[in-house]
Amino acid sequence: MEPSFKMLDERSGRYLPFIYPEEIPFWEAAKQRQIRLQRCSSCGRAWYPIGPACPFCFSMKFEWVAMSGRGTLHNYVVFHKAWTPWFEKRVPYAVVQVELEEGPRLTTNLLDCPIGDIRIGMQVEAAYEDVTDEITLVQFRPAKR
Ligand SMILES: [Zn+2]
Repeated sequence: MEPSFKMLDERSGRYLPFIYPEEIPFWEAAKQRQIRLQRCSSCGRAWYPIGPACPFCFSMKFEWVAMSGRGTLHNYVVFHKAWTPWFEKRVPYAVVQVELEEGPRLTTNLLDCPIGDIRIGMQVEAAYEDVTDEITLVQFRPAKR
């Protein structure tokens, strides 16, 4: 996988995330239906967003490890305005913050859940959406358990 700074996917009309070189392990894992994040080799904590050093102890030694994909809905906001044409058929939609079992929080979307059913504290599990041949987004849906 190569870094990508393409903003708009002409085929879908959807805006794409930039993929910085240091994030490639995350995006490659997403393509394989896995959340892989950095875990500190000194204090053992995982973190997100991706960065060069542990935000807890500032060690620069880390490894990429697979997360369980399970988490809790920590917070959310509902968008009623379509900021780009792609969202026009999708409003209202929720942007949620999921706290993974391992601790890091991801800002993402909640799929397969009507807005009125969203509850802070609900159990969620990772879902993956192939947006382009290169990019798969990590999203979440209500947990089946
Ligand atoms: Zn650390």
